[in-house]
Amino acid sequence: MKIGFIGLGNMGSPMAANLVAAGHEVIGFDLVTECPTGVSKAASAVKAATGADVVITMLPNGAILRAVAAEIIPVMSDGATFVDCSTVDVESARAVADDAVAAGLLTVDAPVSGGIGGASAGTLTFMAGGSDAAFAVAQPLFDIMGQKAVHCGPSGNGQAAKICNNMILGATMIATCEAFALADKLGLDRQAMFDVVSTSSGYSWTMNAYCPAPSIGPQSPADNDYKPGFASELMLKDLRLSQQAAEAVDADTPMGARATELYTSFVEQEGGKGTDFSAMLPRFEKKGRS
Ligand code: NAD
Repeated sequence: MKIGFIGLGNMGSPMAANLVAAGHEVIGFDLVTECPTGVSKAASAVKAATGADVVITMLPNGAILRAVAAEIIPVMSDGATFVDCSTVDVESARAVADDAVAAGLLTVDAPVSGGIGGASAGTLTFMAGGSDAAFAVAQPLFDIMGQKAVHCGPSGNGQAAKICNNMILGATMIATCEAFALADKLGLDRQAMFDVVSTSSGYSWTMNAYCPAPSIGPQSPADNDYKPGFASELMLKDLRLSQQAAEAVDADTPMGARATELYTSFVEQEGGKGTDFSAMLPRFEKKGRS
């Protein structure tokens, strides 16, 4: 396939490189970063999209996605497929999909889970929204860049799945960290806490697979001085998207709202920016109840 790839940052660059390694012709464009080896460089987003069978975008946010989409949708070939893998608000995903469908394109919103490591290793999980026909075109590419792709329903549902998952993740990480900090103050050994919780009803991915306490459980960013991993500011971005979506549909999400508040202060006032999102544990260690 001839693939246009727009947004070659931390995630897009290794994803594009994996498509090249699988034998696809990839024409890339980024405002700032260089193309990875094997990806031909286009002079603009429009040039990367023109004549492509599939265009993939991997951009920072919904406003940028909307701007890029407005440029490229008019020049994409009739019947081509627009796959957006960025994490953006559900409204932007649906607006871009509507414009693309109106222009005779197939479209999939397909945010990912798995981070930079998953992008490099080709083990991402894709959560996809769009028609069956569009998903069928994109699926072989998801299989190259990832290990699993779930078709979640119509346009926007990929983003919906992503923010619901990450709202659970943010709230659960906070619950796990505050419980460790409480256990410390109660004189409970962290290893004992892990041994109990990881095999009891309090278990979770954050406890069992990504334990925020150093030297406990499997290797995690806590064992690497809380270097990300999944940075706190990216967690905050996704939590904010979840609350934006909850407001739009009048959903009551008090845990998501509190998690958003805590990550906002952590990132903006408490030095959490640039640390892994599990660095909430040292933050709780330092604090009392007020
Ligand atoms: P990044 O900032 O490294 O990459 C984004 C790239 O888009 C940058 O290179 C930037 O120059 C480029 N860009 C911005 N505006 C552009 C434009 N108008 N035209 C062309 N290029 C433009 O970000 P990233 O970490 O690669 O993340 C990309 C997306 O994936 C985000 O939506 C993020 O939330 C999501 N995501 C990231 C991770 C992660 O661990 N990094 C994990 C899951 C999902």
